[in-house]
Amino acid sequence: MDLKARVRDVPDFPKPGILFKDIMPLLADPPAFAFAVDALCARYTAADIDVIAAAEARGFLFAAPMAIQMKKPLIPLRKPGKLPGATRSFKYDLEYGSAELHVHADAIRAGSRVLVVDDVLATGGTMAAACQLVEHAGGAVIGCAFLIELAFLNGRAPLAGRDIFSLLTY
Ligand code: IMP
Repeated sequence: MDLKARVRDVPDFPKPGILFKDIMPLLADPPAFAFAVDALCARYTAADIDVIAAAEARGFLFAAPMAIQMKKPLIPLRKPGKLPGATRSFKYDLEYGSAELHVHADAIRAGSRVLVVDDVLATGGTMAAACQLVEHAGGAVIGCAFLIELAFLNGRAPLAGRDIFSLLTY
């Protein structure tokens, strides 16, 4: 299955000079979407995983079907003001300004083995923050899974020492 044929390059989005990888054509093609989810799950068939976590928002698109297929609880890591219960949070720097991810304080049991999923690994800032939030909440990150890795942005650097898998690399 040629998944890369279902990823569209959008120049100058969200700002001039950025070549954005748009996964909407892949999501709109059920056999391709299923193939991608199956391939991501296959990488972890032998892994000891308790829960799957993902950062808002596009990470949810892959983490949710993976959680169903792998029969694991799904834990959404959300932007501020979205979760109704008491939360733990982690603030991180972006190119301009900062962002924050939250998780319900009781969502991750101490020592829980967590697979963290996102659609794209770019600079690695989002995944690094997601992993630190999971660890802050008492979980152990056993892997980071992505549909796409933009290798030229060296997103593995902030994730040094972590187990990283990406289905498609550019
Ligand atoms: P990072 O924090 O720089 O690694 O950026 C990763 C986050 O930004 C992911 O959650 C992606 O959803 C989003 N992202 C960054 N670049 C792209 C892209 O080219 N296509 C789609 N999403 C992207």
